Amino acid sequence: MTLRDDVTLPSGAHLDSEALRGQLTDAADFVVVGSGAAGAVAASTLTQAGFRVIVLEEGPWVRTRDLSGDFARSTSSLLRGAGAQFTFGRAGLTLVQGRNVGGTTTVNSAIAMRAPAEVLDGWGLGPSLDARALEPHYQALERAFEVRDSTEVAGEHNRLFERGARALGWQAAPTRRFASGCEGSGACLTGCRGGKKLAMGVTLIPDALRGGARLYSSARALRLSTAGGRATGVVARLPHGTLTVHARRGVLVCASAVQTPNLLRRSGVRSRWLGRNFQCHPGFSLAARFDHPVRMQHGVTQGFHSEHLSKSHQVKLESLSLQPELMAMSIPAAGRALTAQLAAWDELLVWAVVLKARATGRVVDLLGADPVLFTPDRVDLLRAREGLKALTRMMFAAGAREVWPNVHGLPAVLRSADEVQRWDDAPLDPRAYPMVATHLFGTARIGRDARDSVVGQGLECHDLARAWVLDSSAFPTNLGTNPQLTIMAVARLAAERLAS
Ligand SMILES: Cc1cc2nc3c(=O)[nH]c(=O)nc-3n(C[C@H](O)[C@H](O)[C@H](O)COP(=O)(O)OP(=O)(O)OC[C@H]3O[C@@H](n4cnc5c(N)ncnc54)[C@H](O)[C@@H]3O)c2cc1C
Ligand code: SF4
Repeated sequence: MTLRDDVTLPSGAHLDSEALRGQLTDAADFVVVGSGAAGAVAASTLTQAGFRVIVLEEGPWVRTRDLSGDFARSTSSLLRGAGAQFTFGRAGLTLVQGRNVGGTTTVNSAIAMRAPAEVLDGWGLGPSLDARALEPHYQALERAFEVRDSTEVAGEHNRLFERGARALGWQAAPTRRFASGCEGSGACLTGCRGGKKLAMGVTLIPDALRGGARLYSSARALRLSTAGGRATGVVARLPHGTLTVHARRGVLVCASAVQTPNLLRRSGVRSRWLGRNFQCHPGFSLAARFDHPVRMQHGVTQGFHSEHLSKSHQVKLESLSLQPELMAMSIPAAGRALTAQLAAWDELLVWAVVLKARATGRVVDLLGADPVLFTPDRVDLLRAREGLKALTRMMFAAGAREVWPNVHGLPAVLRSADEVQRWDDAPLDPRAYPMVATHLFGTARIGRDARDSVVGQGLECHDLARAWVLDSSAFPTNLGTNPQLTIMAVARLAAERLAS
C-alpha cells in the first residue's frame, strides 16, 4: 500500500530545514505559518486557486512509515514540549498541542463535528461568518474527507458507553470522524500507523505540495516582517540558520490559539485583546474496572459520545482509549498499588467529560515562550462534577465493577451506583481535579470594532494589513463541540474569499 505521505513530491516541494545552512531567502504570494487544521486548508485552497504558497512549520514531518506507536517516542517527536506543557493558575491543566507537519490533527481522535448553529450565529458577525456562511464549507469538507462513523470497528469500550447511556435512557451516538478506513487500533493519540486517519500531514499538505506549494519543516516563524503598516513576509529560525520569506500578497497566521498571539505581538501588533479571551474545553477523565475484558486498545479511540448534558450543563461525555502511560494518570494510586491496578489492564476503561468552560484566561509573552494563564471558575467545576457523576452512573449501568474517581477528597473506589451521590461531596477547588486542555480558542478574536477585537470580519488584523489570522485564535468563543471541522471550514471560507 502506498501511504498518502509517501508519494513522490516535485523536487524542492518539501525542504527539511535540518538539512539547510546559512541565511536563506525565498518568496511566494502567500506565506502560511503552521501546517495544522487551519494552515493546511489555507495552503491547499490558495494553491488550488493558482497562488504560489510557502508553508512554514516549526515541527518535523514525521511520515506515517516512521510513526512508532511507542508513547514516549511519539510524544517527543509529535507534541510541543514533548507533551509536558501546563497552564498557570490555580488549576494547572496539561496543555496538549501537536508540533509537527499536520499539527494537532496528527495526534487527535479525528472526530469531525459541526459547531452548533446557535454558537456561530451568537457571534453576531452576520453573513461574514455565521452558520449559513459556513454551511457549504462544512459540506465540502465532509465530502472530501469522507466523514462518517466507525461503528464497525467500535470495540468493547465504545459499545459499553452506548450500553450505559441507553440503559439510562440518555442520548448517545457514534462519533463522525475523519477516518473512513479506520481499523480500530485505538491509537490515534500517537499518530495513525495505518494512515487511516485523514490528518493534514497525509492529506492537504501533500496535496498542496503536489499542486506547487513549498513546505519548510522545522522552521519556526519568529516574526512577520512589515513595512508601512503591512505584513511583507516572515522571518524564521532554522536549526542552522535563518530564512526570510517575502510574501507578495500577505501572511496567513495559523499557528494555533496559543502561538498565534505572541507571533503577532513580536511582529508589532498592539491590540489590547491580543492574548486575552483565551478559552478552552477542559477535559476530565474517569476510569472504571469491569469483570470482563474491555481491551481499550481494540476499537476506535473515541467512537461514541453523549450530548445528554450539553445544553443543561455545557458538558459533552465521550468514550476514550488511552495508552497505559496516560491511563496511569487517571488512576488514584501510586507505586505498587498503581502497578496492581494496571495489571488488570484488559478490564479497564476510561471515559471523559469535556467542558465548554465559562472562564477565560490569557496567553502572555515571557522570554520567547507562550505561557497560558487559566483557572476554571466555580460554575465550571459544578458542571464538570455533574458530568463526572453522570459518567459514573453510566459506568455502573454498563456493568462496571468499580469506578475510580481521581479527585482529591473522594474515595479512591466507588463500588456501586448507590455511591454516585458521593460526587456531591467533591470539592469545587480546581486543584482537586486533573484536567487536560485540548481545544483552544479566542486569543486574537474577530470583531467589527478594533477596540474590542484583534482581527476584522475578513480575519485581517486591524493593526497590520495583509496579516490574516485563520485559526481558532480568531473565534470569539469556544464551541462546545470538537473544533477541527469548524477550524477547517472557517479557514476554507477565508482562503476562498482571499483567492477571489
Ligand atoms: C489529544 C487531542 C485530541 C483531539 N481530538 C480532536 C478531535 O477528535 N476532533 C476535533 O475536532 N478536535 C480535536 N482536537 C483539537 C484539534 O486537533 C485542534 O483544535 C486543531 O488541530 C487546531 O488547529 P490549528 O490549526 O489551530 O492548530 P494545530 O493543528 O495545533 O496546528 C498549528 C501548527 O502551527 C505550528 N506552529 C506554531 N507556532 C509556529 C511558528 N512560530 N512557526 C511555525 N509553525 C508554528 C505548530 O507546530 C503546529 O503544527 C484534539 C486535540 C488534542 C490535543
Ligand atoms: S483508531 Fe487506529 S486505525 Fe483508527 S484512525 Fe485512530 S489510529 Fe487510525
